[in-house]
Amino acid sequence: MMTDRASTSALAPPTSGADAIVIGAGLGGLASAMRLGAKGYRVTVIDRLDVPGGRGSSISQGGYRFDLGPTIVTVPQGLRELWAACGRDFDQDVDLRALDPFYEIRWQDGSHFTARQSTEAMRAEVARLSPGDLKGYDRFLKDSEARYWFGFEDLGRRSMHRLADLIKVLPTFAWLRADKSVYGHAASRVKDERLRFALSFHPLFIGGDPFHVTSMYILVSHLEKEFGVHYAMGGVAAIALAMAGVIRSQGGSLRLNAEVDEILIEQGRAKGVRLTDGEVISADVVVSNADAGHTYDRLLRHQPKTRWTPKKLASRRWSMGLFVWYFGTKGTRLKWPDVGHHTIVVGPRYKEHIKDIFLRGKLADDMSLYVHRPTVTDPSAAPAGDDTFYALSPVPNLGIGTTDWASEAEPYRQKMQKMLEERLLPGLGAHLTEELVFTPNSFETRYLSPYGSGFSIEPRILQSAWFRPHNVSEEAKGLYLVGAGTHPGAGLPGVVASAEVLGTLVPDAPKGQQMRMAAE
Ligand SMILES: Cc1cc2nc3c(=O)[nH]c(=O)nc-3n(C[C@H](O)[C@H](O)[C@H](O)COP(=O)(O)OP(=O)(O)OC[C@H]3O[C@@H](n4cnc5c(N)ncnc54)[C@H](O)[C@@H]3O)c2cc1C
Repeated sequence: MMTDRASTSALAPPTSGADAIVIGAGLGGLASAMRLGAKGYRVTVIDRLDVPGGRGSSISQGGYRFDLGPTIVTVPQGLRELWAACGRDFDQDVDLRALDPFYEIRWQDGSHFTARQSTEAMRAEVARLSPGDLKGYDRFLKDSEARYWFGFEDLGRRSMHRLADLIKVLPTFAWLRADKSVYGHAASRVKDERLRFALSFHPLFIGGDPFHVTSMYILVSHLEKEFGVHYAMGGVAAIALAMAGVIRSQGGSLRLNAEVDEILIEQGRAKGVRLTDGEVISADVVVSNADAGHTYDRLLRHQPKTRWTPKKLASRRWSMGLFVWYFGTKGTRLKWPDVGHHTIVVGPRYKEHIKDIFLRGKLADDMSLYVHRPTVTDPSAAPAGDDTFYALSPVPNLGIGTTDWASEAEPYRQKMQKMLEERLLPGLGAHLTEELVFTPNSFETRYLSPYGSGFSIEPRILQSAWFRPHNVSEEAKGLYLVGAGTHPGAGLPGVVASAEVLGTLVPDAPKGQQMRMAAE
């Protein structure tokens, strides 16, 4: 990551006592702005993009809407609680649809596994693939629930910035064998390699290597079973737009196409920001939803650090990069009837492939794909009769990998198309229309994501909870961090929870200065 040596700017102008800035309109930033608005702050959200949502934004091209990032909404109650905290009703603003089935996993040998909410349906799938693993699967579900209550409902919803908080939970970590990996835990419960995959791939959706990420993350199985898998009509971008609407109704504002160059610190306290065009905006509270690495390395480049030095940041394990091919297909709405909303097409290797991505930094010849076909649920994503897709392949991030994406992107995309034609979408080439490719370079330039990583700092055990950049900054007073790189971590439930934690850390705006709801 780059730093420069320009000097810190002039003092920021005075504030009302209730002015807050949120840097970044990712889902974590928007949720934070809502929380601060509910606390009486006049919030300005600043983002360099021309739309809110960050990774959850979408791009429309020739009538096809490409949902760029998150597609699976779990734990909808997190969003409902957020809206309720602002005196609003989530379901009035967003049309969330429960999916059934959730997703299908397809292996090379032609076998498949369909994930559903019903435990009986899931047990039937397990029994179909490997009857001897049924007992182990039941135990896995119980394990998952135990980790959900501890990891999600307890740890994930409170600040973990005090060492004492960590020390208190260490015995539970030990008891739940948090030192084991997600794959290790699945393998201890079921023998069939396909089932081991089906029970352990989930960390990839938050940037973690299933063979090293703490087994606490098996909680996802319980999460899905208990609360379902959902899709927001209009894509996650529709949630971001609804959040922006709530923020405006609270009297806050969004400044898009505006990039923060530096967080201004006076006598150890965050006082505001300076934009890249030189404008200074002052605030009483500054929240950064920019990547934690970018926040410390770039936005606080003139501030001496006690913890998050460039060396420390560089020594973190960063999540993998992503190669995403977004494409529209003409006249295919009735084609490929067996291809649902979410499909995982598994390649020939699992462990060795993951090693290539996370440890060797090698762009492998084979790949495993996650394929999104939103038009199954939401026809508005494409012109009538057509489809919109994205195919995603995890790849090494720019820190560990040496791939020259300028020359490798097109050959890699072609390989992806070939795999899709052979395994999922026969005849695809004849229907292709609009398309767009994101490589790790796109993540670096669009989201200012260190090393072009898809999900910020990897959620390994020694990079989780207290070990992660704290929600209340270690480096400056009045500065807070939310989003994927902080506690509790990546994924929509994680970043929405980081805003909930923020709400417990920031005091209410001073009484006389509180914003009145614009709607009042
Ligand atoms: C392809 C993909 C698929 C995913 N699928 C799922 C899924 O199905 N379900 C799920 O729950 N999660 C999923 N995730 C993860 C989830 O999308 C992210 O963890 C989450 O959206 C990150 O939110 P965030 O709040 O950290 O902010 P980001 O989305 O990272 O947004 C940060 C914002 O800050 C802005 N910014 C940065 N620096 C500056 C600056 N200096 N000045 C101004 N603005 C700045 C950026 O422009 C950006 O808009 C997926 C992610 C990806 C990439």
